[in-house]
Amino acid sequence: MPFRIATFLIASLAVAAGAVGLFGWKFGWLGAWLGAVLWLGLDAWRAERLLRVLRNDAAGLPTRGPGVWGELSERIRKLLRDREQQTRQAEDRLQEFLAAIQASPNGVILLDEQGRIEWCNQTAASQFGIDAERDLLQHLANLVRDPAFVAYLASWNYSRDVVIDASGPGHAHQRSHPVRLSVQVHPYAGNRRMLLTRDITALEQAEAMRRDFVANVSHEIRTPLTVLAGFVETLQNLPLDANERTRYLALMGQQSHRMETLVNDLLTLSRLEGSAAPSGNQWIRTRALLAQCEDEGRGLSGRLAPLGHRLSFTIDAESEMSGAPTELQSAMSNLLSNAIRYTPGGGEVAVSWKVLPDGRGEYAVRDTGPGIAAEHIPRLTERFYRIDRSRSRETGGTGLGLAIVKHIAQRHGAELRIESTVGKGSRFALLFPAARVREARVLAK
Ligand code: ADP
Repeated sequence: MPFRIATFLIASLAVAAGAVGLFGWKFGWLGAWLGAVLWLGLDAWRAERLLRVLRNDAAGLPTRGPGVWGELSERIRKLLRDREQQTRQAEDRLQEFLAAIQASPNGVILLDEQGRIEWCNQTAASQFGIDAERDLLQHLANLVRDPAFVAYLASWNYSRDVVIDASGPGHAHQRSHPVRLSVQVHPYAGNRRMLLTRDITALEQAEAMRRDFVANVSHEIRTPLTVLAGFVETLQNLPLDANERTRYLALMGQQSHRMETLVNDLLTLSRLEGSAAPSGNQWIRTRALLAQCEDEGRGLSGRLAPLGHRLSFTIDAESEMSGAPTELQSAMSNLLSNAIRYTPGGGEVAVSWKVLPDGRGEYAVRDTGPGIAAEHIPRLTERFYRIDRSRSRETGGTGLGLAIVKHIAQRHGAELRIESTVGKGSRFALLFPAARVREARVLAK
């Protein structure tokens, strides 16, 4: 302020002095007055210039000039710069938050007081089939018309979630496979709402599978148990001679053996599911695996069919396989035992091992049994899936054999291929990756 007064006085006095010098003492006051007017004019011009810039969004604010207007301009510029920086930082943080919510595997939708979409992440958009940009400020209840969802949204009682079919008829998007969504609303900031959505399709499927599995196991165990209980009752209540008793006890033995086999297969499956994949550095000779298969196969064939089967075993290359020996043996024997069990006596079963030109190893079992209709083939590896239930039971099947084979194959990176023609026979093959197959180091003696 003193600088301002000083410049005002200097301007007045300077012009007054000039006037006195030029026109004499009489013009001193006139000169002082003219100096004051000039100073005021300059001052008003600078004030106006600053105001104009401020009215114009402060773009092109003059850099530090002299006097109070220069300092004002400079201070405003600094203040604006600080504010801009704060806004930019706040904007960056908001973007980071939004990016974090975008990355969430769950859907998030923010609704305003009227139930209109304020923001939603990509997951929610694709789950509900809405467009994250185009559908902004649309009423969500107009876009997702599932009656259960609409009622839930309007109820304002959000203590539980609501489960909806995201591919249902009221849905904006029709999908090829059903998607089940769990939606839970959380109110915030007064009447605003946040919707969290979760895809529970896999969870529900797993739950349904678990229920089916328990029902199947119970059924499989109940049947032999009922038979056993019947025999026990007979033995208790009827006076049987020694021969009959022996016959009944043999039948009871069969039933308990059946239950034992089932429990063993269930334990094998759960062990396979719960353990780490077999390492790639334990090598087994394929000839040894096939020899074991041959022993078991010939024994089984002799027991099942008085005529036996025409069994053949061929190996085209002395090779080794890496993996868990017991698992590999179990998978290979399983395929052979199926071929023998389902092929009538006198039929042919051919087992082969060969190394393919690309280095993969193929173990194949071909039979001349009844064959399998195409619609059954994709389901054969499901637990307890059987085509010929009575044949399976008669020959000691549990319905878990191929499920075990598939598990073992997956653990070894192998592929199970099934080809079959009804009335002609089937071919089950396990294709092992080249990394698990190598030439045998020591030739068989
Ligand atoms: P199971 O213990 O009943 O044999 P699997 O899982 O081993 O169960 O096989 C599933 C079903 O696939 C069998 O019940 C049978 O109907 C069918 N199957 C398996 N192998 C053959 C085969 N070689 N020929 C005909 N049907 C077969």
